Amino acid sequence: MNRVPFVCGNWKMHNTVEDAVALVDALLPRVASYAGVEIGVAPTFTALHAVGKRLAGTQIRLCAQNVHFEKQGAYTGEISVAMLKELGVSYVIIGHSERRTLFGETDEGCGKKVAAVFAGDLRPILCIGETLAERDANQTLSVVDRQLAAGLAAISPEQVAQTVLAYEPVWAIGTGRNATPAQAQEVHAHLRAGLVERYGKNIADQVRIQYGGSMKPENARDLLVQTDVDGGLIGGAALKAESFAAIIAAAS
Ligand code: PEP
Repeated sequence: MNRVPFVCGNWKMHNTVEDAVALVDALLPRVASYAGVEIGVAPTFTALHAVGKRLAGTQIRLCAQNVHFEKQGAYTGEISVAMLKELGVSYVIIGHSERRTLFGETDEGCGKKVAAVFAGDLRPILCIGETLAERDANQTLSVVDRQLAAGLAAISPEQVAQTVLAYEPVWAIGTGRNATPAQAQEVHAHLRAGLVERYGKNIADQVRIQYGGSMKPENARDLLVQTDVDGGLIGGAALKAESFAAIIAAAS
């Protein structure tokens, strides 16, 4: 199965509109010739419009970092799927560990968001991953299984095939300590085996599983060549055009 790798930059709460446009302007010429890889950037909500305008007609997808699962209503401070779609967003990051740990997002809430994203004709990047304490307690696989089952609970098998998963061990995010390629592959292969069991091989083979957690130019190739690693979700290294482009080059 030839899955097109997907490398997405998660800019988190970095970059004003001006900085965001400058970053995307620096990125575009660097990646223009790269083929065989899907590329995305996820700016803050405030920069989506300006960055989206820059990305129109290019091969880089506009992504969002979060969304609410309701269509509209009295949800102060929240953003709906339709509002993101209006700005040209293609993918929405759901259940990033920072949202789970700092903002109380639950497995169940992530499942609702995934379903809402599909209902609005966008695509989710569903993040799952264990903490260091969970890994040390040998709970890695049961934690990701639980998060995955809840995240996919409310969507059809056809939608599962179009879901992008991001395995992001929490202890590797922003720490400079990446999972080894073997550790990443072990979890990715486990996730895919679980998808085969639940949805069959045809669907499971289509699901792209990104790795996220201190991926950088120096370690990207070794992670990306793993059989079940289909791209990356990149934080720190996506904030510089040079390092993000180098990771995309490794994937392409
Ligand atoms: C992330 O936030 O999704 C991430 C992987 O961050 P970093 O690359 O900085 O570890």
